[in-house]
Amino acid sequence: SLSEKLQNAFRNLRGKGRLSEDDVKLALKEIRIALLEADVNYRVVKDFTRAVQERAVGTDILNGLNPAQQVVKLVDEELTRMMGSETREIAYRPGQEITVIMMIGLQGAGKTTTAAKLAGKMKQKGKRPLLVACDIYRPAAIDQLRINAEKQQVAFFSMGDKNRPSDIARAAYEHARKNNNNVLILDTAGRLHIDEDMMAELEEIKSGVDVAQTILVVDAMTGQDAVNVAQTFDQKVGVDGVILTKLDGDSRGGAALSIRAVTGKPILYVGMGEKLSDLEQFYPDRMASRILGMGDVLSLIEKAEQEIDAEEAAKLTDKVKKAEFDYNDYLTSLSQMRKMGGISSILGMLPGLGMGVSKSQMSQIEGAVDEKKLARTEAIIHSMTPQERSDPKIMNIHRKHRIARGAGLDIAEVNRFVKQFEQTRKMMKKMPGLMGGKGRRRGGF
Ligand code: GDP
Ligand code: MG
Repeated sequence: SLSEKLQNAFRNLRGKGRLSEDDVKLALKEIRIALLEADVNYRVVKDFTRAVQERAVGTDILNGLNPAQQVVKLVDEELTRMMGSETREIAYRPGQEITVIMMIGLQGAGKTTTAAKLAGKMKQKGKRPLLVACDIYRPAAIDQLRINAEKQQVAFFSMGDKNRPSDIARAAYEHARKNNNNVLILDTAGRLHIDEDMMAELEEIKSGVDVAQTILVVDAMTGQDAVNVAQTFDQKVGVDGVILTKLDGDSRGGAALSIRAVTGKPILYVGMGEKLSDLEQFYPDRMASRILGMGDVLSLIEKAEQEIDAEEAAKLTDKVKKAEFDYNDYLTSLSQMRKMGGISSILGMLPGLGMGVSKSQMSQIEGAVDEKKLARTEAIIHSMTPQERSDPKIMNIHRKHRIARGAGLDIAEVNRFVKQFEQTRKMMKKMPGLMGGKGRRRGGF
């Protein structure tokens, strides 16, 4: 499913220390494929991935979020934006005016069912809807609407199949006026394909009564076709809002994502089943989360497993065991830490963490790999001679002054770093397993 594909895309971002352009590009490549496979319009996909990329690269990691979560958040926000951000209501005419709503769409899209579902919703809100049978071509269609109206206990209007739909609509309007109905829901006929007769009939109805809202009903299962249908109906008849049906089926979700972006028409409701109660207001943010499978993604990320470069890790472990850990190794481990999201995540992998390491020692070491400090730390090590790097014992105050000048930093900073380095070394001796092991479980982020 689309959710699973998106989750896979995020899985590869787990444990990244910071979002590089390449990380984001890779994740977005998979997201792009997942969206295209879900039948999202390719132009929409292109705009979408560009928007996420622009926002993601170089973004500062928010408090409490790791980079993968951050990308999930961005994708979630952009998906929401793509679907229109806000929940839109049907616009009713003010005061005593009758609001005429015309349901249009292809045959089988769900117009008749959705008309009855809507009538039920309106009744709950205190409206007095009248369901009007304007589909005169299939006798069963009139019965279907009448039966549904009875189930919903809302008023029903029909003139059989011998009148023009536009005449039926006009008569229904008069009927509504006399019977105190303030909403007219016109159930129209669809065809299997868009054709001129259907369009002409819809236009005729529109010219006969003052239609407040033309609502297009589209089957979400039809994917990109739904988008094409929406575009054509909008051009020919004019569409004010969309209701997507059959989202309960194994729809690929693409229609929900592209319709708004392509047509600019808001999705008002979604059909979630055949029962007359299965109509839900459309919430773009909830839909985005559902598409993302957000809960699952986040829990997946939380129990993420971190792969360290196994070979390098083994080498480091070896050195630590022999207490040979030097500035070169520090540099290597720094770049690993950077990849992995800080030293606390490395320490978090250690069974028996806490033995021999105080909280303040930990936060000191942590401080050394703070992103901004990291660059300065690297500058310090780069300003050391090869001899100093491989033999930390020879470090002295003269050397530190020279290093500080070379790195363009204050001597105090070099002092602090060298002290931290010695502390790390000490700590590593206490915990020989520090850099070891491939594919250990992390405790979390
Ligand atoms: P119309 O030709 O556009 O009037 O479509 P109908 O209202 O007759 O619906 C066609 C079929 O789709 C019927 O079997 C409905 O029960 C079914 N249907 C409509 N909406 C939904 C929905 O949201 N979910 C599911 N599963 N079926 C739906
Ligand atoms: Mg129908």
